[in-house]
Amino acid sequence: MKKVAFYTLGCKLNFSETSTISRQFEDRGFQKVDFQENPDIFIINTCSVTENADKKCKKIVKEAKKISPDSYVAIIGCYAQLKPREISEIKGVDAVLGAAEKFRLHELLGDFAKEQEAKVVASEISEATSFNNAYSINDRTRTFLKVQDGCNYGCAFCTIPLARGKSRSNTIASVLESAQEIASTDVKEVVLTGVNIGDFGIVEGKRQERFADLVFALDQVDGIDRFRISSIEPNLLTNEIIEFVSRSERFVPHFHIPLQSGSNTILRKMGRRYLRELYEDRVSKIKTLMPHACIGVDVIVGFPGETDELFLETYNFLNDLDISYLHVFTYSERANTRAVEIDGVVPMKKRNERSKMLRILSEKKRRKFYEENLGKTFTVLFEEDIDGGKMHGFTENYIRVAAKYDPMLINETKQVTLDYINEAGNVEVLEPEMVYEKH
Ligand code: SF4
Repeated sequence: MKKVAFYTLGCKLNFSETSTISRQFEDRGFQKVDFQENPDIFIINTCSVTENADKKCKKIVKEAKKISPDSYVAIIGCYAQLKPREISEIKGVDAVLGAAEKFRLHELLGDFAKEQEAKVVASEISEATSFNNAYSINDRTRTFLKVQDGCNYGCAFCTIPLARGKSRSNTIASVLESAQEIASTDVKEVVLTGVNIGDFGIVEGKRQERFADLVFALDQVDGIDRFRISSIEPNLLTNEIIEFVSRSERFVPHFHIPLQSGSNTILRKMGRRYLRELYEDRVSKIKTLMPHACIGVDVIVGFPGETDELFLETYNFLNDLDISYLHVFTYSERANTRAVEIDGVVPMKKRNERSKMLRILSEKKRRKFYEENLGKTFTVLFEEDIDGGKMHGFTENYIRVAAKYDPMLINETKQVTLDYINEAGNVEVLEPEMVYEKH
């Protein structure tokens, strides 16, 4: 039985795809093993957004060859699509497959026999038009279910459309089938995943369905406790969706909405499809209907043309906004993007300073959000995340809680009252005996 190991860089989408590809191998009789267990084959799923993608890729290949010198190494994923030739020249690489080919490893690479030269099969990205269904089964608690791929937006800084192609989706009927399959396992939470999930519904080049209808349909699937909408563009997060989530028992009150900049000047330069006023309006709509909702924000600092004044616009905008945490990205130049042509390059030192300021702001926001929810009762889905006699899990509104370890609670939901924020920054729950002591 041949042994195969996987390594994934990047986002939830890559994780869901690696997981599905690993099941393809298991179905064909391969044994899935950990990276260090002398695999015969390594599959490395790369990301184009990762800093130093080339260095990371080289490093992983080098490690793989140290572990199993005679192994077969195949590189797939976004970086493989962008730089197939360069990757094929890395010592130890046997195959590079692009976006349209990565789900056809067995068909294209046969019995994974090594050849003199690395095999490169990476079509033009315009040929990546079909949708490959995928979902991750890595832990018992949560799965990333891919519902959409690619993007038609073309933001100035982004390489994803070059690496993943045009927007395309699964059908609602097929997503429902996957959700039912997942429901038959013990998984309790499904995170809807895609590049631009609000754009869900383009099938074979035509818009045929709507994201809102997918949400309505999934809400009816029995056997799954929670659905989380991972990240959705503000211009696609409609009132219809927000209002539905506010009434739903299964879609949780947690939204992750990319902002990227709080300055309209920069948003225009980035080619984003909204201005800050729309963003503000989305946040206020969510908070009016769901005051306890968690709102995460993606933001980029140091985009070309971001002067000190424009950065302050972003800082002040975020400071005033009722949001719960930030994911801060430091802008870095990417080949073949429009942003590299834009004047006003921000020195790296400044980019790093701005990033630090926003990371501190994020911590303040998270703490404030947690504090606002102390004393309230939520449902926690406990995970196999145990440390120092405590177990951890997330509430529906994405507060990370710590509670006394109880093996019965792993992968179970339980109602808890939030007590206080501990030193690690997690929220301790009011344990029953503590209630007793306090009385
Ligand atoms: S919406 Fe913009 S940032 Fe997001 S994937 Fe599409 S092009 Fe990239």
